Amino acid sequence: MDCLICAKLEQACEARLSEYVEARTSVCYRVSTNLAAKRNVDMERARYELEEHRSACVLKRTEALRLSSGVSHYSPSALSLRT
Ligand SMILES: [Zn+2]
Repeated sequence: MDCLICAKLEQACEARLSEYVEARTSVCYRVSTNLAAKRNVDMERARYELEEHRSACVLKRTEALRLSSGVSHYSPSALSLRT
């Protein structure tokens, strides 16, 4: 499961993408190319922020997984329940 920051950035990314698509598919596209360009920049920025966070976040998650799996593996109560 993703962390809250990942989820928030993903949501922002989705929102920027739909805004961009909306601007591109707008009937007024010809008069709003500046807006579409701005939306494109916003979208790229949101995507970059997500990628940047994820690269740092994956390391944290791997560490958390390693720690939690180590704890459950050596849990004596889990072993006694099975026997
Ligand atoms: Zn994260």
